Amino acid sequence: MYNCGILRAMLTLYRRHTKDCHVHKTRLSPRAKRRYMDCHCPIWICGRTSDAFVPRQSTGARDLAVADAQRRGLLKQGQDTVAHGPRIDDCVERFLESHESKLGEKTAGAYASNLSACVPIAPGAASSTCVSFR
Ligand SMILES: [Zn+2]
Repeated sequence: MYNCGILRAMLTLYRRHTKDCHVHKTRLSPRAKRRYMDCHCPIWICGRTSDAFVPRQSTGARDLAVADAQRRGLLKQGQDTVAHGPRIDDCVERFLESHESKLGEKTAGAYASNLSACVPIAPGAASSTCVSFR
């Protein structure tokens, strides 16, 4: 199956330079400053994976290797979702969240209990995907 979503996946890492960063002493344009990586300012990420929008957020890292590992992890997660379908435990969680407000407390509790009971039955448990049940 061809899925053009993979081609659109693009996650960008950039540094949010602190006031005292030496990048401000350069003559770089604001855009070039944003891409400048030769300092230790906090690294942020934004963009999209093949299945999800990643809002602008801090990686919590200043080390480029650490931030890039996070970036690759997010991209891999997106590819797995496209290739294998969403994970069952994720589907259960999303279903419950989206229906919580429409159901009474007792019914919502019964749904949660029954659906959560299905996850361990699945071969490979929570790591199984919806596609593996087709
Ligand atoms: Zn900096």
